[in-house]
Amino acid sequence: MEKKHIDRRVKQMEAEGVTFHYNVNVGVTLPFATLTDEHDAVLMTGGAEAPRDPGLPDTNLQGVHYAMPYLTQQNKRVGGEDVSKITPILAGGKHVVVIGGGDTASDCVGTAFRQGALSVTQLDIRPMAPEIENKLTVWPYWPTKFRTSSSQAEGAEREFQAATLGLEGRNGRLTGVKCVRVDEKRKPIPGTEFVLQADLCFLAIGFAGSLIEGMIAQSGAAVDKRANVIANERDYRTSVEKVFVAGDMRRGQSLVVWAIREGRQAAHAIDKHLMGETILPV
Ligand SMILES: Cc1cc2nc3c(=O)[nH]c(=O)nc-3n(C[C@H](O)[C@H](O)[C@H](O)COP(=O)(O)OP(=O)(O)OC[C@H]3O[C@@H](n4cnc5c(N)ncnc54)[C@H](O)[C@@H]3O)c2cc1C
Repeated sequence: MEKKHIDRRVKQMEAEGVTFHYNVNVGVTLPFATLTDEHDAVLMTGGAEAPRDPGLPDTNLQGVHYAMPYLTQQNKRVGGEDVSKITPILAGGKHVVVIGGGDTASDCVGTAFRQGALSVTQLDIRPMAPEIENKLTVWPYWPTKFRTSSSQAEGAEREFQAATLGLEGRNGRLTGVKCVRVDEKRKPIPGTEFVLQADLCFLAIGFAGSLIEGMIAQSGAAVDKRANVIANERDYRTSVEKVFVAGDMRRGQSLVVWAIREGRQAAHAIDKHLMGETILPV
């Protein structure tokens, strides 16, 4: 999203009375207790960006990266921010393999093309979905349909039912990604191994939950086994007095529409908690 839209919204919110504090990492550069000491309610909305570990050997090879450091640094670069202190990850003139089939993987595909990658191949462990959805599919199954994101449409090679066996390298640098075809139960099919040439590989197989270290750990709020902070959708209260949580940090990595909904509902719940009643819509 172009930053002018965000700038406009920030101005509007400031005019409404919100004070923004930039470059603050709660739990690292600012103790969480400072927030609870100085405020009547604290809402944690830190997202869920702990990457899922693919459990592969050799992820320390040069050229292998998790998706988020790659995407955030390019966002900064495009936005004209100072990236001089960040080690650049650039796909120009390189063969790129993206492991994962979701939105984050799609963003890596598009970014790599825009940077001038020679080729981009995306590995998806799921079977290729049908061109037309089967409307007769019933719960618990979902009528999936083959979709092509705008990033993939820029020329990505898409490999389906492909699992990653490992990463190959020479002199500490990535040279290839070793793959195997899998059956419908995601079991490797013997004899179907293949290697994709790769100078860069992005790991985008989802998120394991919120980053516990820092803000959540210092807050003392209880988390579930998926590393989501525990609170219900009625009052959004955590296990800690006057500390609330909403968005991905509560429900796990999800969608923007859910984050907006949870933000509004949490505002309603906090207003009620502070004032005893609220006119904010749910
Ligand atoms: C790469 C990627 C692509 C996606 N694509 C889509 C898509 O196409 N469509 C869609 O609907 N959803 C998409 N999503 C999901 C969507 O972005 C999230 O569901 C949504 O943004 C969650 O909103 P949130 O406010 O809960 O958290 P976030 O939007 O993640 O915001 C959390 C904020 O808190 C800040 N923060 C975290 N910890 C601290 C701390 N300790 N101190 C201070 N600040 C902190 C972070 O810097 C961040 O700004 C995507 C997610 C990712 C990662």
